[in-house]
Amino acid sequence: MLKFSYSQINTFSNCPQKYKLIYIDKIKKPHDSIEAFLGKVVHEVLEWIYKEKMSYLIWDSIEKKYTEIWKEKWHENIYIAPIRKKLDTNHFKKMGLECLRNFYKNNQGPYIDFKNVHGVELEIEFMIDEYHFKTIIDRLDKFENRYEIHDYKTGKSKTHDDLKNDLQLFIYQKAVESFCDKNKKINLNWHYLKESSKNKQHIKIFKNEDDLICHKRNLLEKIDRIIDARKKEYFPSNPNFLCNWCYFWEECEAKKQYNEINPSILAK
Ligand code: SF4
Repeated sequence: MLKFSYSQINTFSNCPQKYKLIYIDKIKKPHDSIEAFLGKVVHEVLEWIYKEKMSYLIWDSIEKKYTEIWKEKWHENIYIAPIRKKLDTNHFKKMGLECLRNFYKNNQGPYIDFKNVHGVELEIEFMIDEYHFKTIIDRLDKFENRYEIHDYKTGKSKTHDDLKNDLQLFIYQKAVESFCDKNKKINLNWHYLKESSKNKQHIKIFKNEDDLICHKRNLLEKIDRIIDARKKEYFPSNPNFLCNWCYFWEECEAKKQYNEINPSILAK
């Protein structure tokens, strides 16, 4: 049975060939971009914070944890994209720490509030119509009258308007709706951790019925396109800006040429 996820749908929209290599041919690459690595380390530290639930959490413990995880998880296949070649590993390491510092500052560190945390890194399987989905939610808070879904981003920030049509939020909402109390409202919270100001960092969204209908239509159209491509076995490559962070050097002709001209740099 096909299982969909946001990243699968997004990958197909950006490059059908990449979708085929990952989800049909099931090719696994050991490579990580340094941005993806940084994101994983920051997420792991946040998971630790919300699992430990310390009533008084000093900044030094977070910095120590970040350094430990960075060191422990570092591996020999981390790359800096050609487009970022003027930057080095240290730059990215500091950026990750800055993300955590911004979060700490805007969440009342050292007195971070844990009392409504329902779960972290929640894996949820659910259906949208006849389609099976799988997703992971960074954090879910439960209140008497509502749920708050939280997602942390270490990449480029977006505004409230940019997020109006974002399908990731819709998929998270459907995931929580699949098991939650129907009388409770669901709010969606995006945390753009590179932003130090609270207004830019924390974007909260509530979807009304019209939004949900429109998102569902949009999502089902994307799924139809994937199913159609699978039937026709037609997965053209789509060379674009994101090729900078794609590691199918041997498998994709576009990447092979691209990487010969402007290769990614092994991070040290
Ligand atoms: S290198 Fe670019 S064109 Fe090739 S699979 Fe990756 S994203 Fe697609």
